[in-house]
Amino acid sequence: MNNMQKSEQLFSRAQKHIPGGVNSPVRAFKAVGGTPPFIEKADGPYLYDADGKQYIDYVQSWGPMVLGHNNPQIRQAVIDAAHKGLSFGAPTEAEVTIADLVSELVPSMEMLRMVNSGTEATMSAIRLARGYTKRDKILKFEGCYHGHADALLVKAGSGALTFGVPSSPGIPADFAKHTLTMEYNNIDSVVQAFEQYPDDIACIIVEPVAGNMNCIPPVDGFLQGLRDVCDQYGAVLIFDEVMTGFRVALGGAQAKYKIEPDLTCLGKVIGGGMPVGAFGGKRDIMQHIAPSGPVYQAGTLSGNPVAMAAGLAALNQVKRPGLYDELSEATKTLAEGIKTIADSLNIPMSVNYAGSMFGLFFTDVERVTNYQQAINCNTEQFNHFYHGMLENGVYLAPASYEAGFVSAQHNPEVIQQTLQIAEKVLADVAK
Ligand code: PLP
Repeated sequence: MNNMQKSEQLFSRAQKHIPGGVNSPVRAFKAVGGTPPFIEKADGPYLYDADGKQYIDYVQSWGPMVLGHNNPQIRQAVIDAAHKGLSFGAPTEAEVTIADLVSELVPSMEMLRMVNSGTEATMSAIRLARGYTKRDKILKFEGCYHGHADALLVKAGSGALTFGVPSSPGIPADFAKHTLTMEYNNIDSVVQAFEQYPDDIACIIVEPVAGNMNCIPPVDGFLQGLRDVCDQYGAVLIFDEVMTGFRVALGGAQAKYKIEPDLTCLGKVIGGGMPVGAFGGKRDIMQHIAPSGPVYQAGTLSGNPVAMAAGLAALNQVKRPGLYDELSEATKTLAEGIKTIADSLNIPMSVNYAGSMFGLFFTDVERVTNYQQAINCNTEQFNHFYHGMLENGVYLAPASYEAGFVSAQHNPEVIQQTLQIAEKVLADVAK
């Protein structure tokens, strides 16, 4: 058994003053059971817990650490910036430089605004889309997560085209009723929604590769279909690339699938591990944001100099030619490798991957393309696999509905080592 003594003590101490002992719910291991290892430090592809155990990490702080943990250039940039002061609440050169760079790497973002999290980015983009179109309804997809703003914590009502219902207490039904929730990868349902409400839908918001119902890439034609329907009805197409930005390709999913959204939301990698988000897009839409326009949006710490230094150091490194090919190759080797092992042991499994995101599904569905398929996987097998991997030093997301991430520090030896561990653990699952 793992020695988890310190983590167990910390988790029990944490329960006293922190709800559930954690500052973000999934960290509490409710889906898989057991005590979460408390992390003391991280380096390259590894995490180290409070009891000194090393793990190969495929969570990557839920996405930001595409270059691996404790990247020397990011660390140095943060130290240098901190020497000059932590926050000014006034414009800085670093904000201009990062805006120029993001716009160069993601050309659809002609203008952008920095915020402090992915949630702020999506919340602000939705407000902007509503203000710009003067329409109230928004359309999202079942199983996509866009942060925890009220309008976005909404699930589908009973019929496909009924009003949305809140997915958390604390959200008035009156707010949720403006959110329509459709099936991911089903363009017909979207077209029907627009036929029913041709003048009311301000925007579609979509994860262009879904990463919050495990990993589900778009089927051929889905993103193009969204683009077409938005053009036809004058709605704003928002790509939530908080997870996919600088992750599935240098220019994000919009570069990989060659579809240009009107607005893009970024987070995670853009902050290099610091709390940063951004939203941006077409100039004529972005100019509706205050102070150029009437749609209000603000932030005391937005564009924080230390966070911008970290983000710039990260983005300057991800520009390295060949990086995304290497990441994709490593991810493919890992995902296909695990599938081959599962096949040889007659464990039904399907894998999805896009760039350096991957998902393992314990299911006999050949290709998982939507939420209902994702939630019908064998969670018992997943939990068995999960705990076996953890015990043997591989840290996967502690829930079967989360994508995994590979970083630039996951070299071929680390991937092979992971496959050897997976072989041993899956043999146990098969028993
Ligand atoms: N959008 C997507 C696609 C995400 O995956 C997340 C977080 O996981 C968010 C938005 C919210 O970002 P944050 O947790 O930084 O608020």
